[in-house]
Amino acid sequence: MAQSANLGFPRIGARRELKKAVEAYWKGETDAAALVAEGKRLRAAHWQAQADAGIGVIPSNDFSFYDQVLDMAALLGAVPARFRDAGDGLDLYFAMARGTDAAPAMEMTKWFDTNYHYIVPEFSRDQSFSLSSAKPVEEYLEAKALGIETRPVLLGPVSFLSLGKSRDDGFSPLEHLDAVLPVYADLLARLHEAGAAWVQIDEPVLVCDLTEAQRNAFSRAYAALADAGPKLMLASYFGGLGDNLEVATGLPVAGLHIDLVRAPEQLATVLANSGGKVISLGLVDGRNIWKTDLARALTVAGKAVQRLGSDHVQIAPSCSLLHVPVDLDQETGLDEELNSWLAFAAQKLAEVATLTRALNDGEDAVADALAQNRAACEARAVSPRIHDPLVKARVAGVTDDDRKRRSQFTDRIAKQQDRLKLPRFPTTTIGSFPQTQQVRRARADHRKRAISDSAYDVFLKAETEACIRRQEEIGLDVLVHGEFERNDMVEYFGEQLAGFAFTKFGWVQSYGTRCVKPPVIFGDVSRPKAMTVAWSAYAQSLTDRPMKGMLTGPVTILQWSFVRDDQPRRTTCEQIALAIRDEVADLEAAGIGVIQIDEPALREGLPLRRAAWEGYLAWAVDAFRLSASPVRDETQIHTHMCYSEFNDIIGSIAAMDADVISIETSRSDMELLRVFADFDYPNDIGPGIWDIHAPRVPSGQEMTGLLQKAAAVIPAERLWVNPDCGLKTRGWDEVEASLRNLVDAARTLREDRSAAA
Ligand code: GLN
Ligand code: ZN
Repeated sequence: MAQSANLGFPRIGARRELKKAVEAYWKGETDAAALVAEGKRLRAAHWQAQADAGIGVIPSNDFSFYDQVLDMAALLGAVPARFRDAGDGLDLYFAMARGTDAAPAMEMTKWFDTNYHYIVPEFSRDQSFSLSSAKPVEEYLEAKALGIETRPVLLGPVSFLSLGKSRDDGFSPLEHLDAVLPVYADLLARLHEAGAAWVQIDEPVLVCDLTEAQRNAFSRAYAALADAGPKLMLASYFGGLGDNLEVATGLPVAGLHIDLVRAPEQLATVLANSGGKVISLGLVDGRNIWKTDLARALTVAGKAVQRLGSDHVQIAPSCSLLHVPVDLDQETGLDEELNSWLAFAAQKLAEVATLTRALNDGEDAVADALAQNRAACEARAVSPRIHDPLVKARVAGVTDDDRKRRSQFTDRIAKQQDRLKLPRFPTTTIGSFPQTQQVRRARADHRKRAISDSAYDVFLKAETEACIRRQEEIGLDVLVHGEFERNDMVEYFGEQLAGFAFTKFGWVQSYGTRCVKPPVIFGDVSRPKAMTVAWSAYAQSLTDRPMKGMLTGPVTILQWSFVRDDQPRRTTCEQIALAIRDEVADLEAAGIGVIQIDEPALREGLPLRRAAWEGYLAWAVDAFRLSASPVRDETQIHTHMCYSEFNDIIGSIAAMDADVISIETSRSDMELLRVFADFDYPNDIGPGIWDIHAPRVPSGQEMTGLLQKAAAVIPAERLWVNPDCGLKTRGWDEVEASLRNLVDAARTLREDRSAAA
């Protein structure tokens, strides 16, 4: 018999109960016992839901109070020395995640190409490891006591070490492999003793480019763990095994999970080389919210059963369901048609169960479910709500010229200078200003219809005007309107574009207790009417200084949404780019001379495999250029990027051909600037000189110092002065003080230069 399996269930709870419980604990409103009890309640509910859905192999230890990588670090006793005095248990755990007064938090970074962020393990050469928690065993037994047999999940040793960071120069975390293996073996033995026949061991680095050292580590690790007790289901996900396929199939493990959503092409080779393993088929998309085409999935599963026999086949989501919302049944606000195309975690598990039954008992046994699924998939494919012939025709008609400005940068910037008359080292900000309590309350009241449209409008206009006056008074050169009317930089645009839908409860964990609710791009995207022109024009009417129009770029809108899976992402991106392009043209026509198109997510879209980078960057840059290029030379296009390092894609950033880019740099002490030694970035650039993520006011001197560093590698006439990112999370006091210092820093540089001249 084939088995239905799950790799991980969202732990936040259908109503974000975990977030609420953890935050209440942090605030001291509840005690540890209450938090622990709530965790236990959620785990029980989630196990039961999976059992009720008909899942045979149910995961345990997929629960976490913060992050599963941090759990693994805590389990192995990999606690950085600075947390020595941070207590134990939950206190120590949350101290590592969030920092204390004495010890800064551990670093956090993106989990592969998802929007989930994990805590980066820290390793030093002289550290040791020991089994420091019994969490996986306890949770296994907890489920067992409820009558539910589970398959515990562990992050595998090679991925765990590979995702970590060395604190010692010249030391590679992988060198700790021999030190962690006995702890893993000990843990596996204890799980076996407790009764676990199988353990799922996640090794997502198997879908990335591996070094020779990593490949060797795989052989060594699994030779050591093969006989530790439980059978191992080695899980790969987020892509295909590619050139690591032999490494993976050659390991002495009893099972292998493969992602057949992202990499369907690997099935035949894996089946041919399965070597007696149970193969877990990741057929239901764990990264997106669309219904599975069950007929197609059944064909694939049928091949595996034919080749291996049903005893050696499991049916599963492609990866943990951590990356999708919990339950579509809560979404009573979506229309029925759209609703019928979607599947969240609960619905995906029902799909897994249906597929498994169809394999085991024949399709007749689930005829209704299959018929309904077929009807939904067919209806979606031809729905006029998805297909807009005008949009398709427009995309088909895009030419290379549409992605080019009329002149080259040197000509454009000269005309822009004539028009804008900015001083050397012009100062500006990234767009948003503090979203104060009042701003958030007014927005909430407006949503609830507690205040009228016109009252809200009056309020926003007053905020905007006050913000402009403050910027004038501080002495900034290029102003912004402050973005008070925006809730979120993607949602604000998505709500005004055709082809987007929004859920009420479609939350997914981003990091710790932070959850996001990505928009759903279900159809061809177009812009029914101008989205930002009224605000920008109003703001410009209040001042003589140039006002920057503020837009979110096509790649970022794509990257932070659930994207339709029935056409290539690049096509959807191109449609969004055309909508933004129209907005750019309308802003220009309304007299806005500077327009910023933010692309903070450009780098996050990079494929996991290096060989695929070029293809992605080509279409991503094209999409940006398509959105930015309808304007005259005199109109200055800015872009903005943050959240990551950009050194390795600087060529593509240059190819975007924005007149000005503002880019996060100060957190890395201007590390980005090293790249300018080798790469002659051609256009204007503002390396951020104020880390807005930290609640402190940098001095003028500090910022002057950073600017001088920048001026050493960027020609003075191309250097802008700005913070790292938008200011919406900061308070007005620190913003005013910091911006005054920033303007002072620019003035100091101007004076230095004129004195030197
Ligand atoms: N313009 C946006 C802001 O200032 C940019 C935000 C971002 O880069 N994430 O808030
Ligand atoms: Zn930013």
